[in-house]
Amino acid sequence: MTISNPIQIILNNNKTNHPMVDIDIIKSPMKYEILDLLRHDEMNFEDIVKNTSKSKASVSMHLRDLRKEGIVNYKADPEDNRKKIFFLNSEYLGSLDSSRIKLAKKDQTKLLIDEFIKNDEIDYFILLTHTFKSLLFEFGMDISPVLQKVGNYIGKYLYEKLKDDDLDTFLNNISKYWIKNNLGKLSYNINNNIEITCIDCFESMHSEKIGLPSCYLEKGMLETLFSEYFKFDIKILETKCYSMGDEKCVYEIEP
Ligand SMILES: [Zn+2]
Repeated sequence: MTISNPIQIILNNNKTNHPMVDIDIIKSPMKYEILDLLRHDEMNFEDIVKNTSKSKASVSMHLRDLRKEGIVNYKADPEDNRKKIFFLNSEYLGSLDSSRIKLAKKDQTKLLIDEFIKNDEIDYFILLTHTFKSLLFEFGMDISPVLQKVGNYIGKYLYEKLKDDDLDTFLNNISKYWIKNNLGKLSYNINNNIEITCIDCFESMHSEKIGLPSCYLEKGMLETLFSEYFKFDIKILETKCYSMGDEKCVYEIEP
């Protein structure tokens, strides 16, 4: 999913002892441009200027602000001590996107909870995941990179539990784990690529229809499980999702 020009939220670990409440929201397009460059790799001052096509003075001023805020830091270039290499000091947290607020219905989280109260069979884990995501969405907050990363970590742990050299056994182990833990019913379609279908997905089965896929946790888990199995980094695309109005979630491993 591409977001045109989201406001970045940077978690600043260095400023206070309470990093969770100390969030800087970057509104300046120029600062956003610099942060976007540094998100990919550290960079020296000259290259930042070249890549932003702004004057040295302007880049220097924005870098100084970002350094003052503790978001960006620098070190001396080992090849030339007079030069500085800038890098991000903080972890990327997510983004705010006002178009999401328009997609979210007013009180959608309250309506969701009302539904859950009516149907008191809801698993606590499903209640937690759905409520958490719905509320963030209502605020126009997109933390999908974080959810996906969390999924990646869980996937690493799961791989150790579920691994098998034989692909069928491995897939079967994953399905059994998903059923046992109420994560959903998985099935696979293997042709040129692998397609994974999840019915009753824990992450989205009760979610609001927003026209976008929303299962970043599950996507991250599957991504790591299959990357570990195939021993190279694979990317997964969620092509169908309950939150897109589908009756299932479908993931495609990009060939
Ligand atoms: Zn989904």
